[in-house]
Amino acid sequence: MEPENWAPDNSGASGTGHWICVLIQSPAHAALGPFLTYRSPKVLPPGTLVRVPLGKRETLGVVWQSDALEATGEIDPGRVRDVAGTLEGIAPLSAHWQQLVSFAARYYQRSVGEVALAALPPQLRELSPAQMQRRLKRPASLVTAKNTTSVPPLELSAEQSMAVTQIESQTGPFLLFGATGSGKTEVYLHCVQKLLSDDPGAQALIMVPEINLTPQLESRFKERFEPMYGEQSVVSLHSGMTNPQRLKAWLGAHSGVARIVLGTRMAVFASMPKLRLLVVDEEHDPSYKSSEGARYSARDLAVYRGQMEGAKVILGSATPSLESWHQSRPAADGGRYVRLHMPSRIGQTAALPLVRRVDMNHQPRRAVFSLPLLDAIKERVSRGEQCLVFLNRRGYAPVLHCTECGWKSECPHCSAFRVFHKIDRTLRCHHCGFTERVPRACPGCGNPDIAPLGRGTEQLEEHLAELLSDVTRAGSVTTGCPEGLPLRIERIDADSTRLKGSLEAQLAAVHSGEVDVLVGTQMIAKGHDFRRITLVAAVNPDGALFSSDFRAPERLFSLLMQAAGRSGRDAALGAQSEVWIQTFQPAHPLYAALKMHDYPTFAEQQLLEREQAAMPPFSAQALVRAEARTQEAAQALLNIARTDALDAQSGMAQWGEDWTQVLEQITLYSAVPMTIQRIANVERAQMLIESPSRTALQKFLGGWQGALHAARAAPQCKGVVRWAIDVDPLAI
Ligand code: ADP
Ligand code: ZN
Ligand code: ZN
Repeated sequence: MEPENWAPDNSGASGTGHWICVLIQSPAHAALGPFLTYRSPKVLPPGTLVRVPLGKRETLGVVWQSDALEATGEIDPGRVRDVAGTLEGIAPLSAHWQQLVSFAARYYQRSVGEVALAALPPQLRELSPAQMQRRLKRPASLVTAKNTTSVPPLELSAEQSMAVTQIESQTGPFLLFGATGSGKTEVYLHCVQKLLSDDPGAQALIMVPEINLTPQLESRFKERFEPMYGEQSVVSLHSGMTNPQRLKAWLGAHSGVARIVLGTRMAVFASMPKLRLLVVDEEHDPSYKSSEGARYSARDLAVYRGQMEGAKVILGSATPSLESWHQSRPAADGGRYVRLHMPSRIGQTAALPLVRRVDMNHQPRRAVFSLPLLDAIKERVSRGEQCLVFLNRRGYAPVLHCTECGWKSECPHCSAFRVFHKIDRTLRCHHCGFTERVPRACPGCGNPDIAPLGRGTEQLEEHLAELLSDVTRAGSVTTGCPEGLPLRIERIDADSTRLKGSLEAQLAAVHSGEVDVLVGTQMIAKGHDFRRITLVAAVNPDGALFSSDFRAPERLFSLLMQAAGRSGRDAALGAQSEVWIQTFQPAHPLYAALKMHDYPTFAEQQLLEREQAAMPPFSAQALVRAEARTQEAAQALLNIARTDALDAQSGMAQWGEDWTQVLEQITLYSAVPMTIQRIANVERAQMLIESPSRTALQKFLGGWQGALHAARAAPQCKGVVRWAIDVDPLAI
């Protein structure tokens, strides 16, 4: 880092000045603590951004409350170095922001330095002071002028008005449970509008799960608010932006010029001095949980942040997470959220698509597509309509089943299914660790053909093309497509969209009507507005009903509801839109509830099961994952730390009484290989920790970290690459 034009505060040479505590980026396990002591000629308030020397380089730091100084232990005054300088022109981060970061670090078991520095835009670290000064001086707006008339707010429906009134008159948090197209976004817009006009300077944060949902939302907010509050009033924050864009948006939010911040999960850490409203749209979406670094849930942090800062929180979804649903039950049942219900779609008489179940027990054995479904697809295509074939392929662990008698690889000791591990052909329970070799034949009926549920979908696209080879396209005047061409089938999934821009191109082809049948995974179920799709088919959804992952049914229901939301968006075609479910379990309550579009019944039934099995939200979980050169080493790390936790002679036991009480509320399961056991020659293992009490689990993890660090030194743990704790994991 070149210190050009940088006026150092070098009064420290004389030994005078104030000692301050500075937070720097350091991972949880580094020998260096996250807090370092420096000297500054003047008192710097906590939250001030500073540059500090670290070894031979200079790094970005945040001045922290000085009581953290005590935690750093004895300090040799002769070794305390001077702060190199402050980041002039950037106000200190607020006490609220510091509290959010401290909480996140503590709750998710990471170092506060790591969380804090990762929450700041990278360019704060990278730019030299001179570059930063130039950036801050840059004229406020270089953007082209916008039309000055604001798009007027829509007149709210009765359901929307009711929701808005409740949000205005109560403190929340609110769960806005509204069908797809019920006008949730309009409710957010309305609340933001009211806030901004009532409270000068107030800010709102709106989060969405995915980057590709931001442009649509951004234009809706910009057209409504820029004419009134100026061009800088709406900014976005997500990982798809360039670093200079991110810095600019961050500074806008931090300075208070930006009144509205739209973003993905990372935006929950945006510095907003006057935050008064937080919205988490599609709050059930797993993308809100980070899957690397500090594995935080942006939804949960939003609720914490809102309550801490006195800002209102609205969680919106057509299929809320069971955690949020549980929280919005009547207060007598432990609910803390206010549930607002908007069941009706705006402006559509032919409300929701018809759900049909195809009983696969009555179809030819091994058929991937049932005959009635094929006929239905052919019929739609010949009318010039589009179909969406939805594959539930990823996201849950394989469970074995027998096609003859319906046997499934249940764990004899748990209310869970054992997972099929291909590498060593074993069945393993991810709860208790119970392991057996895969049986040669079905234990129920002796049938040798037992296989993972949901197999055989890889070649589905080609298979479908063969089955539909005798069908030709309908001609179209609008697209100029002649009659009689072969139909076009397009597959959209993680593989087909790896190249940048290919998703956009594929989606454009769907919108323009060039594609007749769209085949894809959960990726296509979300958010996209396909107007000509009148049939959505779930080909193999049953796997999620019998998954080792207890959240799989919840996810399936929400995906199918969203997929159903893709059907019949065009009012003219809405009346004939259908959702087809191919299943061996036509009477399953999940499908019965889906047929009625009845999320509440489904949710209550799931919560009952969860309660009986003491699963979240009725218990708290954490997962420790270890990676090593060998599976033995990975498991050894976990098992040694486990033994240490339970050992009366260990360091933790010295806490005495307290630790014993904590342990009484903790279940530590055995180490097991992860479902995907090996990636790039690194072996992976995991251990589940459960407790009826979130507080006990937090205490336990805090105390246990040391044992995990220490275990690494054991000879059995040679080859351990890393380990990490995942609090409130989404898949186990
Ligand atoms: P959701 O977010 O619940 O899926 P949106 O807010 O996107 O729903 O609304 C769905 C559609 O209905 C949008 O095209 C929106 O412009 C329109 N809409 C929403 N509220 C109203 C209203 N009060 N009057 C007329 N149209 C509305
Ligand atoms: Zn069998
Ligand atoms: Zn078990």
